Amino acid sequence: MNENTPAIGIDLGTTFSAIAKLDLSGTVMTLMNAEGDRITPSVALFEGGQAIVGKEALKAISTEANSIALCAKRDMGSKVFHQAIENKQYPPEVIEAFILNKLRKDAEAQVGPFSKVVITVPAYFDEVRRKATQDAGYMAGFEVLDIINEPTAAALAFGYQHGMLGQNSAPENILVYDLGGGTFDVTIMRVCGNEFTTLATDGDVQLGGFDWDNRLVDLVADRFVSDFYADPREDVCARGKLWRECEDAKRTLSSRSKATITCDYQGLSKRVEITREEFEQLTQDLLDRTRFTTVQTLQASGLQWEEISRVLLVGGSSRMPMVREMLRQVSGREPDTGASADEAVAMGAAIHAGHLISLSAGNPPSFKIRNVNSHSLGVIGMDPATRLPRVGVLIPRNTKLPVRVRRNFKTQKANQKSLLVQIAEGESSSPDNCTFIGCCKVPHFPPNLPAGTAVHVTFEYSPDGRLKVDVQIPDANTEISQEFTRENNLSKTLLDGWRSYISGEEPTDYQ
Ligand code: AMP
Repeated sequence: MNENTPAIGIDLGTTFSAIAKLDLSGTVMTLMNAEGDRITPSVALFEGGQAIVGKEALKAISTEANSIALCAKRDMGSKVFHQAIENKQYPPEVIEAFILNKLRKDAEAQVGPFSKVVITVPAYFDEVRRKATQDAGYMAGFEVLDIINEPTAAALAFGYQHGMLGQNSAPENILVYDLGGGTFDVTIMRVCGNEFTTLATDGDVQLGGFDWDNRLVDLVADRFVSDFYADPREDVCARGKLWRECEDAKRTLSSRSKATITCDYQGLSKRVEITREEFEQLTQDLLDRTRFTTVQTLQASGLQWEEISRVLLVGGSSRMPMVREMLRQVSGREPDTGASADEAVAMGAAIHAGHLISLSAGNPPSFKIRNVNSHSLGVIGMDPATRLPRVGVLIPRNTKLPVRVRRNFKTQKANQKSLLVQIAEGESSSPDNCTFIGCCKVPHFPPNLPAGTAVHVTFEYSPDGRLKVDVQIPDANTEISQEFTRENNLSKTLLDGWRSYISGEEPTDYQ
């Protein structure tokens, strides 16, 4: 890697994505796509197994809804996208790879070929979703230098724009409230000179502007049903068209006091006028969920509101006046909208990419990022009292990363040949309420181990929130190369196949 490698950062959003570049003079900017826009709808229209991504795909929602993938980021971590497209089941990370590939091609038209990128993820993404995001990058032909949490990227961009990087300025505690199209994150960061430390993070990967849109869709559709006894939600194309109208009206309501939504279905038409006040009442519970999480995260950081010097708004949905008002009320200060809500995250990722490229060229670090884990990590075992499976927490959430924890197991019987460790993330002691990450099967134990032989399993969360597992059997002086099989992730063969298909790039020895 040399310093002429372009430093590229990508905000792979639920509803919109952006790509930014840090140039050698230190200027960071988002790059325009082929349509001339700085943000690209994260929407893919499939035609014969190939995808058209962006504005064109979005336009087709009222005619070809069955061939369109929307909000694939919400399904990351699942085996397949929630709906078949052209009668085919796609893994969500494959859809994301098509989106990334469009961003790459459009950016390459301006900056020339590149492969090294930093991609952002919601701070609240679990390990499986993080891995799926890296895989999407790989399938799009990238070498993913790192994944970085969206609020950290936003804070970096903010620090950069305010000349905070590399300076020994007074420490500041920043609350980053990030409400995007499909996910919500809140993070408390301490920015001290050139050090960005996450103190606490929480969020909801199933809450975003899309849910506000859907409230409007339901309101209009219910009124349509009571007038005409026909439900536009039953037809995917009519629903798609109505959703676009509603999303548009929602944006209008951020700057005007009322908006009109038209719904056409089965030759019938209805116009619904909605005021901002009605819209805010209709979605109050969604906003309350974000308020609750915000207050809880502040508590988890151990800080009081007086100690927070800035409330940074990120994500397109933070433009809703109700969001600003709520934050003004709870924090007692005016939220900061200095950073461009749509572009700040991609810019922060590009700054981080530039930093990594410069480090690998032997330069001293210009800033440091310290992260925490957003979910507790545990091992599933049997509760001796109830004989029911339960999760024993090894690394509690909000622990500073990197962190290594060793857990000692014992073989149950003489001459035991293997051990299976089941790993879960979550805050509950019941495995049913946690995310099952996968199994670490430790095979090929040396022969004739007595029952009760110690097996040491070390779990390590790296700074990007990814997990590594190491196993040792000290008595047998053995370090066993174990298999950590992740639930729902694609195999290397599939990843390579998709990489050549989507990006035209040959597989590399990545991972
Ligand atoms: P992001 O993922 O950060 O690009 O945010 C996308 C979300 O922001 C979508 O749900 C948009 O509908 C929403 N959004 C963008 N601009 C506005 C606005 N002016 N008012 C309300 N929501 C907006």
